[in-house]
Amino acid sequence: MARFTLPRDIYYGSNAIASLTDLDYKKAFVVTGGSSMQRTGFLKKVEDALAAGGMQVQVFDGVEPDPSIETVMRGAQAMRDFEPDLIVALGGGSPMDAAKAMWVFYEYPEKTFEDIKNPFTMPKLRKKAHFAAIPSTSGTASEVTAFSVITDYKTLIKYPLADFEITPDIAILDTDIPLTMPKKLVAHTGMDALTHAIEAYVATARSGFSDPLAKQAIVDIFDSLVDSYNGDVEARGKMHIAQCLAGMAFSNALLGIAHSLAHKTGAMFELPHGLCNAILLPYVIQYNAKACQSRYADIARALGLPGGTDKQLTDALVRAIRELNEKLGIAPTYQANGVSEENLNKHADGIAKNATADPCTGSNPRPIDAANMKKVLLCAFYGVDVNF
Ligand code: NDP
Ligand code: MN
Repeated sequence: MARFTLPRDIYYGSNAIASLTDLDYKKAFVVTGGSSMQRTGFLKKVEDALAAGGMQVQVFDGVEPDPSIETVMRGAQAMRDFEPDLIVALGGGSPMDAAKAMWVFYEYPEKTFEDIKNPFTMPKLRKKAHFAAIPSTSGTASEVTAFSVITDYKTLIKYPLADFEITPDIAILDTDIPLTMPKKLVAHTGMDALTHAIEAYVATARSGFSDPLAKQAIVDIFDSLVDSYNGDVEARGKMHIAQCLAGMAFSNALLGIAHSLAHKTGAMFELPHGLCNAILLPYVIQYNAKACQSRYADIARALGLPGGTDKQLTDALVRAIRELNEKLGIAPTYQANGVSEENLNKHADGIAKNATADPCTGSNPRPIDAANMKKVLLCAFYGVDVNF
């Protein structure tokens, strides 16, 4: 038996924040990041919309990029003090993910991080609160996914918590918000979304429900990401929806080893999540092609790329992703992104071992061990095509 789970409601379009006013709750706890949502006025808009609906509002701000276990525990304590019946996450993947994990420890104060870090081991939520998410970046799609990525800064490991219990109840895709993203953030988060869609399209848990979402997301991202990067307003809005389609797909189809390696290299090399995926994706496709070349060929055909055989089409897809990175100003390797050989040599074995154990590895179309994981990492470090 399989399961396909999404939020019950998705509000979208310009000024979608206003939908908060009609929600039927008493106390809303708003979780947000450092300062972008204050600076751009969207936090105030959210507070006003909730207040207009008769709700009492408390804000928890300062969630850092790649949120820590400590931030999660602080937020959970603040929730227990305020006792909200609605949690509203406003921001990028970081505050949305942090808020999801806070939610778990709000409902279950006695649980520890250790108790929930294995996939699909979460207790039943929604006894105290429902959850609404409002993304401000166009990439993680945490507003519709069953995941929350929390970093343990003691071990420098990113844990993708996973359970349909933390799939939000409501997603609000207000297309005004991503307009304030700086270019680099558009590039990195957009490549994160593309990686979600491509990994979902070939993942072992893919289905007839996830395939059309993944494929449409890939086509829309190729259509709109470069224009969005260059400031086109309509393309920015299209990307916001496309990344969400990708999220609906990968939340259910799961991901693969681009994400396994991105989770570990992101923390170890201090690079943004989307940038790691952008670097890794071509090499991971080359590694996986032995197991699912016809699926990559499918994607290439949907994109209208040239090639008569599955091999030619897969090569064309890899080339198209490299060209896309170039247009987005993304250098193609870890080395070209400033990671030193010394840093690589110090951490490569640990990264390979931890990435192999990452939950995303289990749904990768081609099995992999730590030795090959390290080889893929080295290829992505130096820029050598994967041919094993
Ligand atoms: P973050 O949420 O980490 O935000 C990155 C930066 O962008 C912050 O400095 C933030 O500022 C700023 N920012 C956010 N939105 C805007 C905006 N509209 N205008 C201007 N600045 C803005 O970035 P991501 O969305 O890429 O999230 C990355 C995290 O999500 C990683 O930890 C990653 O592992 C995780 N992730 C989660 C997934 C899931 O399914 N749950 C899937 C993939 C990744 P400020 O802090 O001031 O708001
Ligand atoms: Mn991701």
